[in-house]
Amino acid sequence: MNKVYEIENESVENYIVTFNDENGIIKASCTCPAGQHCTLCKHVIKYMLEDNEIAESLKEYGLMKVYNEYIETNEKADKLKEEAKKIKKKFARLLLGNYRDKKN
Ligand SMILES: [Zn+2]
Repeated sequence: MNKVYEIENESVENYIVTFNDENGIIKASCTCPAGQHCTLCKHVIKYMLEDNEIAESLKEYGLMKVYNEYIETNEKADKLKEEAKKIKKKFARLLLGNYRDKKN
């Protein structure tokens, strides 16, 4: 499997996204600023999810499992952040609300 995608970019040079799984190793790359720093960018994610052949390869190599683990953990983190916000509001209401009541 060897895939090359080119993403048109109006402001700078087009980004090139590549995937290949030769010699028992699967590799992806992207020439965008994030990709050049080996950060998982939206371009790599876009094609790994849109291209079934890439998705299948990732499954074969056991990498899709790790990606899904990342997604699940990220969702849990979002829920925990929401929960923390609610608790902070409750705490503020109790502390600051009580303070105002005493003062008045
Ligand atoms: Zn990219």
